[in-house]
This record gives sequence, structure tokens and C-alpha cells, in this order.
Amino acid sequence: MTEETKTLNFIEHIIEEDLANGLGKDKLRFRFPPEPNGYLHIGHAASICLNFGLGERYNAPVNLRFDDTNPAKEEQEYVDAIKKDIEWLGFKWANELYSSDYFQQLYDWTIDLIKDGKAYVDEQSSEEIRTQKGTPTSVGTDSPYRNRSVEENLALFEKMKNGEFDEGAVVLRAKIDMSHNNMHMRDPILYRVLKKAHHRTGTDWCIFPMYDWTHGESDYIEQISHSICTLEFKSHRELYDWYLDQVVTSDKLRPKQREFARRNLSYTIMSKRKLLQLVESGVVKGWDDPRMPTISGLRRRGYTPESIKHFSELSGISKRDNVTDVSLLEFCIKDHLNTIAPRVMAVLDPVKVVITNYPEGKEEFLDANYNDYAEGFGGRDVPFSREIYIEKEDFREEANKKFFRLKLGKEVRLKNAYIIKAESCVKDTEGNVTEIHCTYDEDSLSGSGSEASLRKIKGTLHWVSAKHAVEAEVRVYDRLFSDEAPDNHKDKGFMDFVNPNSLEVITAFCEPSLASAKKGDTFQFQRKGYFCVDKDSSEGKLVFNRTVPLRDSWAKMETK
Ligand code: ATP
Ligand code: MG
Repeated sequence: MTEETKTLNFIEHIIEEDLANGLGKDKLRFRFPPEPNGYLHIGHAASICLNFGLGERYNAPVNLRFDDTNPAKEEQEYVDAIKKDIEWLGFKWANELYSSDYFQQLYDWTIDLIKDGKAYVDEQSSEEIRTQKGTPTSVGTDSPYRNRSVEENLALFEKMKNGEFDEGAVVLRAKIDMSHNNMHMRDPILYRVLKKAHHRTGTDWCIFPMYDWTHGESDYIEQISHSICTLEFKSHRELYDWYLDQVVTSDKLRPKQREFARRNLSYTIMSKRKLLQLVESGVVKGWDDPRMPTISGLRRRGYTPESIKHFSELSGISKRDNVTDVSLLEFCIKDHLNTIAPRVMAVLDPVKVVITNYPEGKEEFLDANYNDYAEGFGGRDVPFSREIYIEKEDFREEANKKFFRLKLGKEVRLKNAYIIKAESCVKDTEGNVTEIHCTYDEDSLSGSGSEASLRKIKGTLHWVSAKHAVEAEVRVYDRLFSDEAPDNHKDKGFMDFVNPNSLEVITAFCEPSLASAKKGDTFQFQRKGYFCVDKDSSEGKLVFNRTVPLRDSWAKMETK
């Protein structure tokens, strides 16, 4: 094996084998086939990265095909959102296509099936059809309508098409084998009646083809070489192939279905239908709520396309079901933001510090880099004055030697500024510290090169000048579910595991440079984490989302 083939995933191995067996490289063609019944989630990103990644690797076209055969659940809003998400991830589809564009072709092929005696109209209830299917260990029972004449079937199907039957009254079934060991082959349904307007075909059609009949034939129409889907369709492959057998002609490429494992992520759920339930029940504020595992939610939360693609690469393509730890996703975004986010100062839980020997009314604008460890970030001036804010947790009256923050009688350095020493503190009647009185060493300004500035001080704190600080609303998110696998309990549903404390809204004091931050801008709030400007921000009212804390406090909380 060469170095190159060793790093191929198993789908790529299949393709390499097909190429070696004579499939022309120019015949390679892929598709990403979402149903527009919700917003894309991080699981879809696996499929997007896989399919578009194959397109890039083999320089082959990748279609975006909307699998839109159920007007009851599909909407234009979802089509638009899906396109936006794929574009944001940085992928370009060759063609934007819709299964609904093939309704006429599918219908024509269906007429041929009926004429060949391979399809029949069944007038039984769905319940009757279900019980007749049998079980994996017992054969099914033929429908009493199974042996209608071709003429009768053609006439009834025509009536179905013309809207002469109510929803659920009749279906068209393929006539395959009611005792087949694969349950999907026991006369599967080809068409059902649905009297709902379709987002593209309006009321032109009131019969709609089922997934299996539509998918393979759409692949065939588009001449998709490799139709990659998730494992639950493995048992459908036989039917996929049977349907293709009915239409494929020898001069055309025959698509091939192959399956990979769905991506599952810990502490969340991954199904559009269930995510819709979260939206509709008001547990979250919308599909793009930053707590959602949707691509739009992650984007709003401050995730970058690079981080999501990196995550896809690291979690890989598998043949077996598995769950990826959400901390891998969090690692990926921290890893990326670490290299691109300017580092600024904001105090999230403030206590006032008065520097008693700093002249009243004086202010200085201190030179501060946006990143001390990398070139190219530039810098800004941060104002300093007699009263500043630091984090409450950064001060203790007394603490042991390991507490390198501010304590009475000891010194800390203020980032980009001076060394201060805590002299005393003021407390309210309940004993909470409300103000800390410090002195500063005038000669200790960072970067001044003076002897005092070079003194080794263990702790460095972030801070903001009280009178210059800009207030901001900060939305601090925790996991949406308190259980690692909310969807995997026999006696309870995922809704039972919604974390009631997944959103905390606080007011932070930010350095004034943040006043000009734009929606979507991302920052590291030093020592606190990564934060981005939310779309709810407006002139004079900054709103930040916490993308991810610098350190993970979750593991610690769990073991407490
Ligand atoms: P959902 O239950 O979330 O609606 P779905 O599979 O019904 O999922 P589709 O819109 O049909 O959603 O999916 C489009 C493509 O994305 C399909 O090829 C599907 O196999 C793939 N896909 C969906 N969910 C995942 C996942 N969790 N991991 C990997 N691929 C996925
Ligand atoms: Mg689906």
C-alpha cells in the first residue's frame, strides 16, 4: 500500500477499486441529498464534508439535490437555510436540483412498471398492509388486490393522479415478493396520495413517490456514480438495486449505493424532526439558537467553517455506529480561534478596585497587543484610570500560596498595565467584598523596560477601567442536555433531559475598543474564553455569545 492509499477512507477505497476496474474518472459524480424539512445539523456536515470532499479529491461534480417528496413537511425556508449553510461551509455544488423536478419521469417509469405487471393499486388500509408484511421470521401475505389486471391498475393509478381518491385510501405498490427475506422487498409502496401544496410543484401533483423509488432513480437521472448514504439504508440497498434494474439502460452509468455510519454527538440529539420539536416547544429560540447542534446555531455561536471541517476530518468516516464526544468539537473551535481571535479584556463578574495612589482624574492610554504570541494582529490603546474592575473570583482576602491572583498584602500585574498591591477591602453587611483598595507601582508599566516593569510577578489579571468600560449583554451557554445520550433511554424521551440552566445572561464590562465590534466578530476575552458578537446586537447595545470557555469546567462539575 502506498502512503496515499493508507490515508483513504473506506468509501475512497471503494472508488479507487471502481476506477481500477475500469470506471472512467470522468464518470465520477456525487450528490448531497437533504430533505428540506428542517435545518442542517452537525451530522449533515459529515455527509457534506464527505461528498464535497470526494468532489474535491477527484475533481468531480457534486450536486445539491433536494429530496422533496413530502409536501407535508417541506418548506422553502428550509431550502434557503440549507443552501446558506453549505455555502458558508465553503462548498460549491455543481447543480441545484430537486427530486420534484423528476416527478414526470418517475411517473412515466411507473406506468411502464404497471404495464409490465410490476405494480398494483392497493385499496387496503395502511394498518392492513402493515400486518400483511409479516415479520423477518415469517412470510407476508399477498394483498387481495395484488393480481388486478394491468388495465385496472392503469385506470386506478390515473384516478389517483387525478385526485379522485382521498389521502390514505389507496397506494401504488411494487409487485416483488411477499415472502422475500428482506422486508423492504415485500411489495413496497411506490406512491401515496397527499393533498397538500408542494413548495415547488404547488397542486400539480397529488400523488407523491416514496423515498426508495425516488432516490435511486434521481441518482440515475443525474448519473451519480456513488450514492453515499447512512447505515440505516443498508437494508434498502437491495430495493435500490431492484428499482434501478427496472430503468437502467446499458449505455448509461448505473449508480451504486454505499453506506457509512451516521455521526452522533454526545450531549445532543441529531434529527431534524426532534430539533423541530425543540424549536416548536420553545425550549430554544429558533433553529439558529446558539445551543442547537445545527450548522446555523453553531455559526451564531461563533464556530467557523474551518473548525467544523476539521472536526469532520478528526471524527472520520466509519462503517459502524459510534458517538463522537462533543469535546472534540469544542477542541476544534478553540484550536482555530486561538489562531485568529484578537485577545481583549472584559470582566464578566466585576468588583471595583480603587488605586488609592493613582491621581484622581488622570487617565492613560496604554499600548496593548491583540495577541502577544503571534504577529500580524496589531494592537489598540486601553484606557487606565484610578478605578478599575477585576473579576470577583480574582480576589481573596486570604488564600494559600497557590492562589496567584490578588490577595491582601500581595501584588499582581494588571495585563498591559501596572503592578498593584491589595491594601484593604470594603464589605457589605453580608460580608461580600464590594471594593478593593490597592496601591500601584508607578514605575512598573508593562513594556516600559524599567527595572520595576521587569519584576517577576506570578499572577496577571485582566481588568477594565471603570469609567471607560462598555457594558455588554453576554449569553453564557451550557449544554442543552444534561445527559450524554438524551435520545437513548427506554423509559424517558430526550425532552426529559433538557438542561434548565443552559442559558445564563449576564452583564459584562468590556474594554472600550469593543464598542465598534461588528456582528459575527470573534474575540478571546482573556482568561475567560471565546466570545462573538450576536446578531441581536444593535447600535449602543452589544450582545455577545460565549462560544466556548478556555477551559472546560464541565468535567469538573460532573465529578463534584
Ligand atoms: P434527520 O433525521 O436529521 O432529518 P435525515 O437522514 O433524514 O436526517 P436528510 O435530509 O435525509 O436527513 O439527510 C441528507 C443526507 O445527510 C443524507 O445522505 C443522510 O444520510 C445524511 N445525514 C443525515 N444525518 C446524518 C448524520 N447524523 N451523520 C451523517 N450523515 C447524515
Ligand atoms: Mg430523512
